[in-house]
Amino acid sequence: MTRVYMDANATTPLLPEVMEAMRPYWIERFGNASSIHLDGQQAHSAVDRARATLAEFFNCHDAEVVFNSGGTEGDNTAIFGLLRPGDHLITTSIEHSAILRAADRMAEHGVETTFVAPTASGLIDPAAIESALRPETRLISVMLANNETGVLQPVEEIGKIARAAGAFFHIDAVQGAGKVLLDVRRFGCHLCSISAHKMHGPKGVGALFVRRGTPIESLLVGGSHERRRRAGTENVPGIVGLAKAAGLAMLSLEDGTMERVAALRDRLEAGILALPGTGVNGAAPQFAPEGWRDNSPGQAQRSPGKDANNDLKPRRGAVNSFVHQNPGAPGPDFRTGESTDPVPRVANTTNIWFDHLEGEALVIALDLKGVAVSGGSACHSGATEPSHVLMAMGLDKTRARASLRFSLLKTATEADVDYVLQVVPVAVAHLRAISPVAAGTAG
Ligand code: PLP
Repeated sequence: MTRVYMDANATTPLLPEVMEAMRPYWIERFGNASSIHLDGQQAHSAVDRARATLAEFFNCHDAEVVFNSGGTEGDNTAIFGLLRPGDHLITTSIEHSAILRAADRMAEHGVETTFVAPTASGLIDPAAIESALRPETRLISVMLANNETGVLQPVEEIGKIARAAGAFFHIDAVQGAGKVLLDVRRFGCHLCSISAHKMHGPKGVGALFVRRGTPIESLLVGGSHERRRRAGTENVPGIVGLAKAAGLAMLSLEDGTMERVAALRDRLEAGILALPGTGVNGAAPQFAPEGWRDNSPGQAQRSPGKDANNDLKPRRGAVNSFVHQNPGAPGPDFRTGESTDPVPRVANTTNIWFDHLEGEALVIALDLKGVAVSGGSACHSGATEPSHVLMAMGLDKTRARASLRFSLLKTATEADVDYVLQVVPVAVAHLRAISPVAAGTAG
């Protein structure tokens, strides 16, 4: 049976070049990067080379790259490593659970958090971050791209607000890395998490950018690895794979790959939106319930503080260089193609609601036809709760439950889109015909 994988935001396969780059480090070059003999030196220099590639990827110094186990560890390190009792944290209600649950944990240790809500189109308004500031705000943590909607957040503006307030700024760039150009200098952040498996690298490895001088406390203690910022024998094959994936990702930001992916995503989206009772989440504000507002409380400003370390070369492009405006429009008919409220998104993601059916039933029906997609975030699969991201955007529970995320691999093809556009209408028509939601007996 044809299988089409459209769940790249959950994870991606290794590219063959990544596999090849990693291969020798499992067997022939298995050394411990801390050993002084030749085997150790080989491993050590592989880690050094990988660090240089990641420094280019982030646009930072080699010494500012800390290898770790992935996005969850990077996010947890930002929260647990910087915050102390009495501090205030500003984050958003659409973050990944690696941030949200860490913030919950910190509440038990005397750290208060303000969760800033998005607009109805899934954007975080920098003014809402600004008005949440308090004199004791120590950290602002905002994601680069949302995992469910693909909406890109205005991190550069938030970075300026953090700087003026003297607060540290962390970006969860797990879903943005490889899809848009990272530039931690321009973003003005102190910390930035990425994960290899979201960009065709191996699972269980990632990196955290830690700006020089950021007083982060290590989560793991033991050896003096990673300049004492992350103890534990380096995962050399994983680190080599991460670097290879990052190098390939930088190339595909320049060779037209992301434009190709965006065109495929747009064709897929337009094809699905031709069905009645469908729409894009993360595009239009018309789904906001009456009276819906951003809910961040206003707070006093802090005096200007830490200096940006701006001694690196400026980078080409802007965060939005591979951003494509949503064709969905706020207004009575989102299928007109006219948008008065364009929302920047990464190229590979669309999140679509289907009225009169259960999203989970559609995920299963599509899987049976060979199409892998996701309802809400993969980390919550099995849970019956609707997506916290869509709920925060103001969708009602029924529509949030009836939403699916299609996220394309960068290797996606026209044939993949053709196949999905062939099976989705059939599955939707079938489910609507038998759906208790359509019959009005469930909500
Ligand atoms: N942050 C975001 C936005 C994510 O989408 C994910 C994974 O889905 C993570 C963090 C966690 O990354 P990892 O799977 O590497 O722990």
